[in-house]
Amino acid sequence: MKPMFHKILIANRGEIAVRIIRACKELGIRTVAVYSEADKDNLHTKLADEAICIGPAKSKDSYLNVSSIISAAEVTDAEAIHPGYGFLAENAEFAEICENCGIKFIGPSSNSIRLMGNKIQAKKEVERLRVSVLPWSSAGIKDEKDAVDIARRIGFPVIIKAAVGGGGRGMKLVHTPASFGNLFHTAKNEAQAAFGNGDIFIEKYCEAPRHIEIQIMADKYGNVVYLGERDCSIQRRHQKILEEAPSPVLDERLRRGMGEAAVKIARAIAYTNVGTVEFLLDKNLRYYFMEMNTRIQVEHPVTEMITGIDIIKEQIRLATGERIRFKQKHIRLKGHSIECRINAEDPDTFVPSPGKITSLQMPGGPGVRIDSAISCNYTVPPHYDSLLAKLIVHGDTRAEALKRMAMALDEMEIEGVKTNIPLHKKIMNDSDFIAGRVDINFLNRFA
Ligand code: ADP
Repeated sequence: MKPMFHKILIANRGEIAVRIIRACKELGIRTVAVYSEADKDNLHTKLADEAICIGPAKSKDSYLNVSSIISAAEVTDAEAIHPGYGFLAENAEFAEICENCGIKFIGPSSNSIRLMGNKIQAKKEVERLRVSVLPWSSAGIKDEKDAVDIARRIGFPVIIKAAVGGGGRGMKLVHTPASFGNLFHTAKNEAQAAFGNGDIFIEKYCEAPRHIEIQIMADKYGNVVYLGERDCSIQRRHQKILEEAPSPVLDERLRRGMGEAAVKIARAIAYTNVGTVEFLLDKNLRYYFMEMNTRIQVEHPVTEMITGIDIIKEQIRLATGERIRFKQKHIRLKGHSIECRINAEDPDTFVPSPGKITSLQMPGGPGVRIDSAISCNYTVPPHYDSLLAKLIVHGDTRAEALKRMAMALDEMEIEGVKTNIPLHKKIMNDSDFIAGRVDINFLNRFA
């Protein structure tokens, strides 16, 4: 066993910061929280052993402020930084700065982040390994005319995607050659403005697929395992709002096929720490690599619930240089888990609804888990994402998990801000969802 860190700084806020602090406490590691002026009273600042203000409310001045965060780690003598998800989690320069400052970045190497952070490079790498990808503009795009030719060859509809896009942004669906030119230029300009990189690519649009992702774990000795899949097909505007594990449509053979494909990718790029390989699964159960997320994901708890493995603790152990503690054959999936992302937003329009929580009742009982940083009288700031809580359930069967989730949603009461609890209740009552017959367009029926 490698010596454990004494102190970790958590470069994040809200529920994920709290989740990481809890994992550190279990491992006997001291914690440093960082916070913006808007988050002075956030739960993560109270639970950590130390807390340091890193700047004003706006993310770019605080949670994205690299020099402030590195200084905080230096003055508190933190040996490692856990970036959580979002903010700096997939910022290769940040990981590199940590590496150069002698602070362990809890995640993969900056090289892996850089490689997988560019979807064009990632697709090339994966194609080389003979893992399927959807037909795409693999040879590059010269100009608009070339782009239309490529799109015709791929066959409409196609999606124009930003090479470094994320969070469901930077994608344009194009149905006909006539509308292609305009959307091509808009996509390029938007990618440049939003991500500072105007590189785009064209990909075949997959009709009504499911979003299936594989959680992997890798140590620096070349051992890689997969922890089964998560089905994240319930999305609004290409953003996940409900995830479950296992997927209702995967059998053992397909799970092994997708798991081994994910492991092959991780191994080929000498990936370390935890990560997720995302695939689209079409109606004929053929899967295509989409992208790799080189960080812990929001929806990691559903995997924890069915494997019994604490992924954050493993992430920290792996960062010390420890070996993976189990072999693939030891990983068993038990029961079924569902996560609902409870957001402060209008359930119909998805417009964020920041404000003060005036009354709060959280659900409980067997198989119910809440990952959250909110409390009564807490004011949801307008500056960050609208996630209030992750409501996670586990049951012996999918039917039991569905019942538990429906019950938990009924028990949960949040007043003062609008939430998407009514939308989740509708989903739980939907006969197609109950039957597991969903694809990424499922939520359009409620729009
Ligand atoms: P981001 O990095 O912004 O999350 P992804 O490439 O992961 O973007 O795609 C996000 C979502 O967009 C997917 O989960 C899926 O719903 C949809 N999507 C992406 N590519 C395609 C495609 N080729 N065909 C159909 N839907 C797609």
